[in-house]
Amino acid sequence: MADVLVLGAGMVGVSTALALQEAGRDVVLADRKGPGLETSYGNAGVIQSEAVEPYPLPLALTTLLKIAFKRGNSVNYHWNALPSYLRPLRLYFAASLPARHKAISQTYAGLIRRATADHAPLIAAAGADNLIRRTGLRFVYRSQPALDAAAANAARLASEYGVQVVAQSPSELAVAEPHLNPGLAGAVYWPEAWSCADPGGLTQAYAALFASRGGRILVSDADTLCERGGGWAVSSHEGPVTAKEVVIALGPWSPVLLNRFGYDIPLLRKRGYHRHFAGGGTLNAPLLHDESATVLSSMVKGLRILTGAELACFDAAPTPVQLRRSTAAAAGLIDIGKPVEAEVWSGCRPCMPDMLPLTGKAPRHKGMWFHFGHGHQGFTLGPTTAALLAEEMITGQVPVPELSPARLRNL
Ligand SMILES: Cc1cc2nc3c(=O)[nH]c(=O)nc-3n(C[C@H](O)[C@H](O)[C@H](O)COP(=O)(O)OP(=O)(O)OC[C@H]3O[C@@H](n4cnc5c(N)ncnc54)[C@H](O)[C@@H]3O)c2cc1C
Repeated sequence: MADVLVLGAGMVGVSTALALQEAGRDVVLADRKGPGLETSYGNAGVIQSEAVEPYPLPLALTTLLKIAFKRGNSVNYHWNALPSYLRPLRLYFAASLPARHKAISQTYAGLIRRATADHAPLIAAAGADNLIRRTGLRFVYRSQPALDAAAANAARLASEYGVQVVAQSPSELAVAEPHLNPGLAGAVYWPEAWSCADPGGLTQAYAALFASRGGRILVSDADTLCERGGGWAVSSHEGPVTAKEVVIALGPWSPVLLNRFGYDIPLLRKRGYHRHFAGGGTLNAPLLHDESATVLSSMVKGLRILTGAELACFDAAPTPVQLRRSTAAAAGLIDIGKPVEAEVWSGCRPCMPDMLPLTGKAPRHKGMWFHFGHGHQGFTLGPTTAALLAEEMITGQVPVPELSPARLRNL
């Protein structure tokens, strides 16, 4: 019997397996597909040291009406999905009220501020430095009032959390990113952020590191999980696997499995889309065009163009309206070249309505641990919350109580 079975080999599960292995545990990592092929593949690859405040639900009536009437590009929704989103959205609204959001941000900032330092030894040991750019992250704006508002908010974050930020004029922007078209009012530049040219590749490099240190990676369907012999068991392509403890790190799929164990997790799945384009201009750092809610990043496969959030049923067919608009907006910023894939990619950000990942002991099952719900920043935070989870599993002390699944009682 292994010590720990980690279910899910995205950035969160792979980081968990590495952290527990480092602490001396015999760990088995299981995924139905393989490491880094789902959300941890399709994201924007930014290790976001600027994201000290998690995204609140917009509270201004004008913004909410814009979303309701589908006027902007940051949020799209499917009418038939709304009933299932009502509870998480109500909780998200409550957590977004200023005092509560401020308290949540204190916890969140503590995680975010250590994220690059937690990735650094893994990048080095995995020999993945070639995938990493330490060139920051840029938010660009066409309109001067939008730039001014963003710069003021960035200055607030700098003073409250100590994040570094630099305002860039159009001429400074042209030097930093020579392939951008002229016509932008300027940029807010976050120099401390890192980014990755292949997020799935980095997750796989971390998984290969785990295997090279003696860890076992199996193909297994987590839906076969059951309690057995005082521990936990799943079926795998190598036969049954048992372990004393199990970590649920299935990202957006975690609530599906946990429902069978009696947990009702109000996860808010914010779907996003991407597509690669090749043969056009390149960027030195990822770029967020705030006004069209579009992210662009030069990656191994080409220029990856990504969208904001869509609220849809988990298994609903893709409706890439936001990606069409984002592609048009991106084409106004830079020569995007031609599409690489015939199909668009889509995947879901696994967001807890109180914006904090669930990291810790399952409330009602001995030997079961939760590790999911990293929302917009799971690629950034995987190694950080993995270190916290491992600390709790080894020492029995809860390092950041705000992340504890015990809070599900109040959700
Ligand atoms: C468009 C977009 C852009 C983003 N940009 C960023 C960014 O720039 N920076 C950032 O930090 N974060 C970003 N994110 C968020 C980030 O991608 C996620 O928070 C993170 O990838 C979640 O990792 P995970 O390991 O929890 O989930 P996943 O990577 O989805 O891993 C879950 C794993 O569980 C496996 N699984 C599921 N069901 C089963 C089953 N029944 N049996 C076995 N295995 C199963 C899957 O195969 C998968 O490998 C973005 C997300 C999106 C959608």
